[in-house]
Order: sequence, then structure tokens, then C-alpha cells
Amino acid sequence: MVRTDGDTWDPATGVGMTATFGAVARAVGTNKGLINDPFAKPLVRAAGVEYFVRVIEDEQYAADGGGDPVMYGMLNILAVHGRFLDEYLTRAARAGIRQAVNLGCGLDTRAYRLWWPPGTTVYECDQPGVMDFKAEVLRALGGKLTAHHCAVGVDLRDDWLTALRRVGFDPDQPTVWIAENLLIGYLPPDAQDRLLHQLSAASAAGSRFAADHMPWTEAQLQEGRAFIEGWRQEGLDIDLAKLTYSAEFGSLPENLEAHGWRTTEKTLVELLATVGLAGRRRVTPHDLAVTPRYVTATLGDR
Ligand code: SAM
Repeated sequence: MVRTDGDTWDPATGVGMTATFGAVARAVGTNKGLINDPFAKPLVRAAGVEYFVRVIEDEQYAADGGGDPVMYGMLNILAVHGRFLDEYLTRAARAGIRQAVNLGCGLDTRAYRLWWPPGTTVYECDQPGVMDFKAEVLRALGGKLTAHHCAVGVDLRDDWLTALRRVGFDPDQPTVWIAENLLIGYLPPDAQDRLLHQLSAASAAGSRFAADHMPWTEAQLQEGRAFIEGWRQEGLDIDLAKLTYSAEFGSLPENLEAHGWRTTEKTLVELLATVGLAGRRRVTPHDLAVTPRYVTATLGDR
């Protein structure tokens, strides 16, 4: 079963739509001061998905507690996670890491909007169509890179590491890896395991890793279906079952530990506290049961 859009990326359907949605969360989050991504709004407008354009223009979402509650909650969570990763990457850069790899980067613009020390390369991997669309919009906007940037259009189920090495990635240097909203079912379990194995093998001592993951329990599946149903009612043609792989996934922290990483896992409450937003959003036990977990990991000498 093929779940990527490949070269013919469509911002309004399937997996392409999920990349657009990440930018929607950053656009709304930027309005609220949860994150700072000045490129998110123009990217969403350029993608042209009518419902998403309405959401970023809707002042209710920019206010605390406004708009559809499920959509509102999801946008906040994504923006806070984005901010957490922004800070995580900046800390890694301050600690001396000069290679950052964003796997399944979608329409993220950290290579244009974050501070990076001189000598840093930001590698981004996603479907070729996503990378081309983003580059074209940022060029038209006059976006200026803040690091050396290598965009790799690749299917992450294939040999993405060879493609990464071809553009200069050096496995002998420590790397900070992020996979934001990717390891939540977008790759089939065997491809996800292979990706973790490959990135671990290509990580020098001192490397770091951060990602969210979701075991897709029954409660999470139900929530996901309800969320997607809300979108369908807004005219988006989307089917969760066709979008994600619901097969059994191994535990992300256990998988990383088996490859030598030391891991820490956070809940949504802990994530909010880490970025100084504890109390900004009330988190119920139900929220905790249906939201992802946030894993960070470091690699020592092997
Ligand atoms: N990380 C971005 C963010 O948080 O805004 C995008 C997250 S989006 C939910 C998932 C991303 O994974 C999409 O951009 C999609 O194109 C990418 N993706 C999914 N399967 C992929 C595959 N097999 N190869 C390359 N990219 C893939």
C-alpha cells in the first residue's frame, strides 16, 4: 500500500494534507506566541486548502479557548511540540552539534527561522513533491537561510540514508535528529524499525534524537477518527485508515535503547512544563490517554 504522494504532492489530500496541517498549527501558534514561524502562514495560503486558510485567518483560533475545541486543542499541542523541538535543536547547537536532520520535515522552516552556529548544516528529508513546493514558496517569499541547507526529496521507506550521505551528511560527526509527527503511524512498522536502525548506525557518540510517538490504542484510534470526521465535514477528503498504518508498532523508547540510546519520555503535561507553559492548557486524563508521548535520546560511546 502506497501512502506517500511522491512527486505529485497534493497539499489537500492524504499525507500531503498532514504536512499542510503542521504549517497551520505553526501559523496559529505564531499568532498566539507559542512558536515563531513567520513562513507558516504564507505556506498555508500557497497550499490553498480552503478550510486550512479559513482556520489561520480565524481570530477565534488565535484567542485562548476559541474555535472548534478538538481542532483548537490539536493546534496547540502541535505548536507546543514544535516549540519544544526548536529549543531542543538550539540546545544541541549550543552544545556543539553541527548536523541537524529533520526526518519527514513537511513544511517546517527551521533552516530559515532558527539561530544556527556558523558551520551548521540542516538536512531535511520528505517526499520530493513536498520539498519542491516548500523551496518554491520560500524562494518567492525571499526567505533567507540561517544555516547551510540540504533538502533531500526521498521516500523514507527506501534507502534515504544513502541519499543523505550523497549530499554531505557525515556519520562520523554527532547529529541531532528530529522526527516530528512522523513516527505516529506514517511509516509501516518494518520501515520505521529500519529507519531507527539506520539512523542509529549513522550516529556518532554525542548524537541526540527527539520524536513523538503514538501506540494507537483504541482510545487514540477513536479520537483520531473523530478528528478526521470533523475535517471531512469541512470538505477535506481524508480517511485515517488510508493515511496511517495501524499495525502493531514496537515501543519507540525500547527500540532506541536496544540501539544504545539513553531515552527519556515525556507526557503532554511534562512537555508543556519544559517549554514554560505549564498551566497554559488544562490537560485532562482523557487528553493524556489520546495524545502522543515525547521521546528524547542521547547516544554515548559505543
Ligand atoms: N514534521 C512536519 C510537521 O510536523 O509539520 C510534517 C509532519 S506530517 C504529519 C508527516 C510528514 O511525513 C509529511 O510531510 C509527509 O510527506 C512525510 N512522510 C510520510 N511518509 C513518508 C515517506 N514514506 N517518505 C517521506 N516522507 C514521508
